[in-house]
Amino acid sequence: MKFVDTHTHLYLDDFDDDRDIVIKNAVEDNVDILLNPNIDSSTIKELNYLTENYSGICFPMMGLHPTSVKENYTSELEIVEKELEKGKYYGVGEIGIDLYWDKTFKEQQLDAFRSQLKFAKKFKLPVSIHTRNSFEETYRIVKEELTGDLTGVFHCFTGTFDDARKIMDIGFFMGIGGVVTFKNSGLDKTVKDIPTEHLVLETDSPFLTPVPFRGKRNQSSYIKYIAEKIALTKNKDIAEIAEITTNNALNLFKTEI
Ligand SMILES: [Zn+2]
Repeated sequence: MKFVDTHTHLYLDDFDDDRDIVIKNAVEDNVDILLNPNIDSSTIKELNYLTENYSGICFPMMGLHPTSVKENYTSELEIVEKELEKGKYYGVGEIGIDLYWDKTFKEQQLDAFRSQLKFAKKFKLPVSIHTRNSFEETYRIVKEELTGDLTGVFHCFTGTFDDARKIMDIGFFMGIGGVVTFKNSGLDKTVKDIPTEHLVLETDSPFLTPVPFRGKRNQSSYIKYIAEKIALTKNKDIAEIAEITTNNALNLFKTEI
């Protein structure tokens, strides 16, 4: 069995004390590819340091996270575009709309999201999309920009089956993480009906730790608990979930094990 963690932030200082061990744990548990989306200009140095030091295991994405969209977002976007021109990134992320924490910069968030979807088309890269209390707005903009071969992942999917159907309609994927293991999330019942061909796995570490480690720091080796839970709800073998989701991720992000 081989796994891909399609969304982790291993460059954050939560891992400063034991990054080597965390990556070793992941590889020992067959999580051989760790895709790291950026947050904003303040994290680019650490992101590049990580992916250069662990090349072949850690891969970078470049983008401006919606909660980092502020007054200066156009200059942040210029930095993102300049980075993407270097040609070393595997996706545009993490991008999207977050209306849960703060709606002050809603219009700017919408604009930044649209600009970054255009970057994805220009550089022919998949996107890693963050939505929180904003599925409708996010989906509308994706559909408006849906030309060429724009594709990607709705990361940390926690929506309804109706949302899932819309995502499948446009050929995008859903990133399933620790929330599926949470007792009252109800996400397992939705995931049960979504074909595995539309799913990829992710931890979003250090956040959203799956059961049985909920409340502690998350790490990529915990992908197995997410895969196990999906296998259980679908009444399938974990090896089948691993094989299909890994193929999905490798094809989407053009990485190889
Ligand atoms: Zn994230």
